[in-house]
Amino acid sequence: MTGHGAVVVGGGIAGTSVAAELAAAGVGRPVLLEAEAELARHTTGRSAASYIPGHGPAPTRALTAASRERFDALAAEAGHGFLHPRPVLHVASTADEERVLREEILPLAPVTEVTPDEAVRRWPALRPEAVRAAAMVEDACDADPVGLHQHYRQRFRALDGEIRTAAPVVGIERLDRGWRVTIGDGGTVDTDLVVLAAGAWTDRLLALAGAPPLGLTAYRRTIAIARVPSGAPVRPDDPFAVSATDSWYAKPEGQYLLVSPSEETPQEPGDARPDELDVALALERVNEVTTLGLRSVVTSWAGQRTFAPDRALVVGDRPEQPGLHVFAGQGGSGIETAPSAAALARAVALGEDVPVDLRRHGVEAAHYSVRRIL
Ligand SMILES: Cc1cc2nc3c(=O)[nH]c(=O)nc-3n(C[C@H](O)[C@H](O)[C@H](O)COP(=O)(O)OP(=O)(O)OC[C@H]3O[C@@H](n4cnc5c(N)ncnc54)[C@H](O)[C@@H]3O)c2cc1C
Repeated sequence: MTGHGAVVVGGGIAGTSVAAELAAAGVGRPVLLEAEAELARHTTGRSAASYIPGHGPAPTRALTAASRERFDALAAEAGHGFLHPRPVLHVASTADEERVLREEILPLAPVTEVTPDEAVRRWPALRPEAVRAAAMVEDACDADPVGLHQHYRQRFRALDGEIRTAAPVVGIERLDRGWRVTIGDGGTVDTDLVVLAAGAWTDRLLALAGAPPLGLTAYRRTIAIARVPSGAPVRPDDPFAVSATDSWYAKPEGQYLLVSPSEETPQEPGDARPDELDVALALERVNEVTTLGLRSVVTSWAGQRTFAPDRALVVGDRPEQPGLHVFAGQGGSGIETAPSAAALARAVALGEDVPVDLRRHGVEAAHYSVRRIL
């Protein structure tokens, strides 16, 4: 074996969770490399922190469903939970939204239709005339991305994993056996197994190794934390309300309301910044369907959701670059899929069988394979 059993590139939830899984599998001297001075500074620290069964394309839904039991197991290990119940309310206000609700959302197993009256009872801020049809996902939850990331980081460190921050990977070179990874300061790490878990930057890292891109695209999405006017009907246990066509969402955040216009603006990989127009659009769209009268925000941020062309996660290597693995394309589901996706990425990287609990939910390595794209 060359120097280190595995080098994982990217210290967000993807890289940190798969690094912990590889260390738990007994891979010797694993290293996690992160370009920034701190971990989880990009997309992982900027999510809406939700766990929503039935969200995303079928391969993503399978990973989210399979993650439920693994979240529970992680909670038992940590001594505190990472999921807290918050049902999702899908709202259809227009004929087009009602069609999408009936044709695309209601057929999914975890979704049940509710009457417009019931929707208003569940979310009293909703204007009755703004609901043509509605549906609930009762077993959705708020997630704790920061706590989850921290748990995986602690687990990795406890298993003698090495974390290097301010360590941008600038070169990846094939050796007779394995790979040589070069870091910005000129240092190198030799390994048999590289896992590229660099979110929006993953295609750039493949390019460093002379490998073709996967066609990953980063899309900016904005979140704003809105002030709730006094007397407005907002309760701490209100549902996570989402438009059926993904044109806005809203959920309580302490004494405030977290809102998004759910935009998807393609961007180069980088440090995404919120656009004032998108913040205004979020307030406007939520105001259109509610009696809240939101006018101002306390803060806002944006992050990049990175998707493969078919929107499913990408896990594995190509025959031309054996041992150069990808774990990317988590899109808007990198938190809710993390426990099972990391287990899948570990199994694929080490040539193990996909764990039986994942297979029970229909997770098969071929659905996520790099080879499906090329
Ligand atoms: C507004 C918004 C809302 C979201 N809501 C949800 C939600 O409710 N539920 C959910 O499950 N998901 C949600 N997501 C998606 C989720 O946040 C992502 O899928 C997940 O965080 C992706 O994690 P990652 O580790 O792949 O990427 P990142 O967190 O971006 O990590 C990639 C890391 O790679 C590092 N890197 C890049 N290049 C190099 C290099 N050359 N060398 C070393 N390191 C490098 C970067 O610095 C970065 O730290 C949301 C995302 C956004 C933006």
